[in-house]
Parts: sequence; structure tokens; C-alpha cells
Amino acid sequence: MKQKRRISILGSTGSIGVNTLEVIASHPDRFEVIALAAGANLERLLEQARRFRPLWVAVREREDARKLSQTLPAGVQVAFGTEGLKAIASHPKADFVVSAIVGASGLEPTLAALQAKKNVAIANKESLVMAGSLLTATAKKQGVSLLPIDSEHSAIFQLLEGQDRSALDKVILTASGGPFFRKTKGELNEVSLEEALHHPRWQMGRKITIDSATLTNKALEVIEGRWLFDLRPSQIEVVIHPQSIVHSLVAFRDGSMLAQMAVADMKIPIAYALSYPERISVKIPPLNLVEMGALEFYAPDVETFPILSLAYRALESKSSAAVVLNAANEVAVQAFLDRQIPFLEIYTLVREVFEAHRPVEAQSIEEMLSWDAWASEEAHRMLEVKNYKVDLGRSFRKAAHGSTSSP
Ligand code: MG
Repeated sequence: MKQKRRISILGSTGSIGVNTLEVIASHPDRFEVIALAAGANLERLLEQARRFRPLWVAVREREDARKLSQTLPAGVQVAFGTEGLKAIASHPKADFVVSAIVGASGLEPTLAALQAKKNVAIANKESLVMAGSLLTATAKKQGVSLLPIDSEHSAIFQLLEGQDRSALDKVILTASGGPFFRKTKGELNEVSLEEALHHPRWQMGRKITIDSATLTNKALEVIEGRWLFDLRPSQIEVVIHPQSIVHSLVAFRDGSMLAQMAVADMKIPIAYALSYPERISVKIPPLNLVEMGALEFYAPDVETFPILSLAYRALESKSSAAVVLNAANEVAVQAFLDRQIPFLEIYTLVREVFEAHRPVEAQSIEEMLSWDAWASEEAHRMLEVKNYKVDLGRSFRKAAHGSTSSP
């Protein structure tokens, strides 16, 4: 009998966390849940704790931790805040961490997990965008794996298995195009929050769904891919593939191109990361080649969806540029979700913050977090100048990241 993989999940109540627990539940002989961390969805966390009996759970707020401690099953400990997250990420009983918190707040616990020599399956693309160099170097130094959960990067990871890396020409990331594929700028002016939240292919959280509608998700994935696979920016291409069947491709110097295909269900890349290097069964209907219809591929419209070119500029620039791009986008998306700005203002705000920044080589996590805080402040300031009413998560971000002064 093989030893079970002992897993901690950061972000257990979100879409990736829930799917991860489903995969784990269908293979109880292989996996054991050690700890779960969530934000504020106490009801779902409690349900998960009753079902999977972890040793620890963590939530964001002290008050929520207190409430939970009265209802949790006996033997389940509860922690809170950034320290709680880090404790879950580095729990001595766990050997594997799923990093599935959305946004910049996933960075510190992900780094803590790698430093504690845990293998990490990463869905939190923002932390790779902010600190891909640091995270991949830490994994290497500690002798642990950083395995992709993002479907495109899982595809590339699978396609490169056993290949001669020196023969790789380029990777091609596919994008569904989101709900606004083929819309003109004029039409984008008019789109509502509800339309932006209605993704044609994937069921996901709100932040990533808006990022898909703006194509920022793909911009972040270009940066993510650069770090996960140690590629030159010129080796990464993006094509629009509305059917979301081909999850990415790799091209070799002999002219061969390989594609990974599957139905659009996150349980597939999650299961691959959890069971790597083996493959386990996943309970979803298999892809039916005869019924799936034609597969189409188009060049992305970078005039209408301009963030993709900012991602390449960030990669050619110094490391703080990507941190700033990501932080400005987080503020812009939140403002759009709060109905404070129209859709196209997301681009304007991100571009203006990006242009206002003079990039530097940020090396430590403290420097990266201080540029993150700077860009967040700058984005809020610009929103105020433009007379958008903002109270937003400013104080939260201050609290989470300490100093807000320009580094
Ligand atoms: Mg993806």
C-alpha cells in the first residue's frame, strides 16, 4: 500500500478548492486532507471540515475563527489571518499544498509552503505573476515541485513530459475569448457587469471571470508560463480557441505540434497535479470527438483587448512591472465588480498605473509586496481623481501588506 499524499488546501471554499476536494473524495486511498484555509465562507468551510476531518482550518478574521471554534468537530484546530494561512501552508503533517487563493494574498503562503519543503500545486496565478522568479528559485533550492493547476499550463506541462527541451520552439496558450470575443470597442463601452460575469465555457470565481472577459487572464498566463517553464517571452504565443477543447499546444523545431485536449473541467488539471507523475480516474464524461464539432483558432484582437501587449512589455522590463500590472488590475476589477467603473475603464486604469511606474528589479518578497501596495494606492488615487466613488478594500490592503509608501 502506497503512502497517502497528505494535502493542505489554501482557498478550499473557492471553485478550485471545491473541485480539489471532489477529486480527493473520489480517491480516499490516495489522499488525506490535513488542513483547509478559506476566506469568509464559514458555512462551506464547516461543511468541508465535517466531511474531511482536517487537523486544522484557517479563516481570515479572528472573530470568524472564534465563531467556528464553537461548531467545528472535536479535534479540528482553528487559526486566522496571514499567520494562520502560513501555518496551514507549512503544517508539518502535510507534504503537499494546493495554492488556490485568488489574488496577491496567495503569494506569502505559497512561498511559505515552498520554504517548508512542500510540493505545491499552484492555481494562484497572481503570485507567479508577481514573484515567479522567486517562487521557482525557491522550489528548486528546496528540491520540491511547483505543479501547474491552470488548465493551459497543465496542458503544457503534460505536453513537455519526456520531451527534449532543447528542441522546443514555442508554446501556444489557448484562450476561449470570453463572453466578448469579436465585440468592437464601441460595443464594449456598453457591456454590463452581468454580461461580463457570464463566461461561455468555464464556471469560475468572479475575479478570474472578469479577467477572462478583458483577456487579462491570458496576459497573466503569459507571465505565469514564462516562469513555470523558463521560456523567453518570444516563445509564448496566444490564440483564441472558442471551443475550449484544446487547452494549449507546444511546437518543436522539427515542425511537430502537440496539443492537449479534454472537456473544460478543472478536475482534470487538478487530478494531474495531485497524482503526478501518475494519472488517476476522474469522474466526468469523456470528450466525444465525433460530437464536439469543429475546432477554431483565431488571432487575438490586441487593439480591442490591449492588456496582452502590456504583459509582454512587463516581461521585457524589470520585475516590478509585472507586480504593478497585477495590482492595478486587481483594483480595477474590484471597482468594476462594485459597479464603480465601466468595463473599458479597467484597461485605462491598468495602463495609466503601468505607465506611471518606473520599473526596478525587485528581489525580495518585501519589495514585491511594497510595489503591490504602491500600485494599489496609485490605482485608488487615480479612481478618486476621476471622481469615481471609491472606498474599496483600501484599508484591507494596507492591513494585509503593511507600508503603503512608495518604495
Ligand atoms: Mg487558465
